[in-house]
Amino acid sequence: MAARRLLTRALRPLCPLGARQPARALFVREGRGDGSCSITQLDSSTLRYLQTENHELVRQETSSAKTLMDIGTRRIFSSDHDIFRESVRKFFQEAVLPYHAEWEKAGQVSRELWEKAGQQGLLGVNILEKHGGIGGDLLSSAVVLEEQMYVNCTGPGFSLHSDIVMPYIANYGSKDQIERFIPEMSAGKCIGAIAMTEPGAGSDLQGVRTYAKKDGSDWILNGSKVFITNGWMSNLVIVVAVTNREARSPAHGISLFLVENGMKGFIKGRKLEKIGLKAQDTAELFFEDVRLPASALLGQENKGFYYLMAELPQERLFIADMALASCEFMFEETRNYVKQRKAFGKTIAHLQTVQHKLAELKTQICVGRTFVDSCLQLHEEKRLDSSTASMAKYWASDLQNSVATQCVQLHGGWGYMWEYPIAKAFVDSRVQPIYGGTNEIMKELIARDIVIDK
Ligand SMILES: Cc1cc2nc3c(=O)[nH]c(=O)nc-3n(C[C@H](O)[C@H](O)[C@H](O)COP(=O)(O)OP(=O)(O)OC[C@H]3O[C@@H](n4cnc5c(N)ncnc54)[C@H](O)[C@@H]3O)c2cc1C
Repeated sequence: MAARRLLTRALRPLCPLGARQPARALFVREGRGDGSCSITQLDSSTLRYLQTENHELVRQETSSAKTLMDIGTRRIFSSDHDIFRESVRKFFQEAVLPYHAEWEKAGQVSRELWEKAGQQGLLGVNILEKHGGIGGDLLSSAVVLEEQMYVNCTGPGFSLHSDIVMPYIANYGSKDQIERFIPEMSAGKCIGAIAMTEPGAGSDLQGVRTYAKKDGSDWILNGSKVFITNGWMSNLVIVVAVTNREARSPAHGISLFLVENGMKGFIKGRKLEKIGLKAQDTAELFFEDVRLPASALLGQENKGFYYLMAELPQERLFIADMALASCEFMFEETRNYVKQRKAFGKTIAHLQTVQHKLAELKTQICVGRTFVDSCLQLHEEKRLDSSTASMAKYWASDLQNSVATQCVQLHGGWGYMWEYPIAKAFVDSRVQPIYGGTNEIMKELIARDIVIDK
């Protein structure tokens, strides 16, 4: 029995054509040891037995599922992820979606939402429990960001907080820093941001000018940052600063600091007015003689650039997954639209050109999903290299923009109206090839790996 694997599938392929068929049935596939297998239908008691024995259902891939957002699909996930996904979906549908339009006007989400997400266990999902995180796997983190994209609500900066900022503290922080910040961040009481970009330095991180000067055991921080996600609401910001101007290269003289809201000289500029991500509090930050204690240094002095290089692949992978989830959302939104929109006496879904467009979109999205899922799996096994993460980020975010353009087109003039979700998805897509390292920089990183003499 242990060697048995459950198989869910539509009954049709295994039934004589035309026989009366229930919609779905469960089958068990048993290997015979010679590469062949037998398939038998399960009765409910056997099914219950197998489920209690913790056997996994054989899962459909996205391409065969009823919709691209179905729960219970994709072989990288398990039934535990499905149960988690159900609750995350409910959370985004009930606690986020109804309020998002209001937050778009305010240029930020509410603090209450962060605490609700904390209570629900949706922050710091992939951070070890012993550090004060939730202790889930990387794929559970992916579930949270995918579900956020499935409601088309980009305001809450949960993924940046949980999957980008918190890992720096968990991986490089001192015991005191971990104990002080991680539990509060998991609870949504301390919102995290990371400030690398400056008005004069984005792609070229080694060009940062923000400077932290030693003063006894303290540091004095001066400089400014721009485009900082969660910047306005943040309680804690990881700031990238130069600490050794005489280093043999800028990369050898950069450190990371934990700067807290309320520190004297730490000033938040304005919430930036963006063409998309309207409910996201992206901000400018200024540091004017901010005195930082030695305990604000994150990790070792002058090692900041290496920490950034180690953590950026995860950021890029998650941007890729976000891009694919957005594609899946846009596709379903468009499929529903063309099936009800009428022109020339029929729905536009009857037009062959529209059908072919949907076929192309679905194929491209499913191909992309396979690669991104494979990257998620690799990263879960700690085998994802930087160049592969860059491929995923560049390709998936370009796909997202192409899908967005075509889905707006299929909506006609209504696709250009803010009240239609596809319009919001379209403008929100545009930033994906820009942040997390532009797609041009991704190609630089991929190319470097191709031409290097190994
Ligand atoms: C909404 C939003 C949120 C953001 N959130 C954050 C955040 O939380 N924290 C943070 O630190 N930053 C954040 N950023 C900043 C983002 O990471 C940068 O904007 C990005 O890295 C590009 O830098 P830049 O804007 O200075 O563009 P530039 O570096 O000036 O690039 C301009 C153009 O030149 C191209 N280019 C530059 N160098 C090369 C090269 N060597 N080869 C080929 N082409 C090149 C770029 O690809 C781009 O097309 C955010 C940005 C936005 C818009």
